[in-house]
Amino acid sequence: MRPRATGTEVSRKAAIRIRIRRLDLGLTMKQLTQRLADIGCPLPESGVWKVESGYRANITVDEAVAFARVLRMPVERLLGPGPACLVCEDRPASGAACLNCGADGGR
Ligand SMILES: [Zn+2]
Repeated sequence: MRPRATGTEVSRKAAIRIRIRRLDLGLTMKQLTQRLADIGCPLPESGVWKVESGYRANITVDEAVAFARVLRMPVERLLGPGPACLVCEDRPASGAACLNCGADGGR
C-alpha cells in the first residue's frame, strides 16, 4: 500500500492530492469509488486505488474531471502547479515524512 514514485510530477502530485482530499472529506476508497460511479465515471475500486497510489499515472481527462468533482476541488488544484500539501508545502525530505501532514524533514 506504499505510494510509488512513477509517472510525471503532475500525476504524482495529483495522486497525493486525491489521497489527501479523500481523507480530508472522510471518505473511504469504496465511497470514493461509488461517488465516481454516481457521476458517470465507473472505475473498479482497485482502479481508484491504483490512481491514488500512483500505480496508474495515465488517467484520462474525463477521469481527472470526475475526481475533481467528487472531491469538490477545482481541476486546476488537482493538476496545477504548487505543492501537493498546503500545510508544509512539500518541504520535508532529509528524513522525509509528510503525506499530509506529518511534516518533519528534520535531522
Ligand atoms: Zn505536509
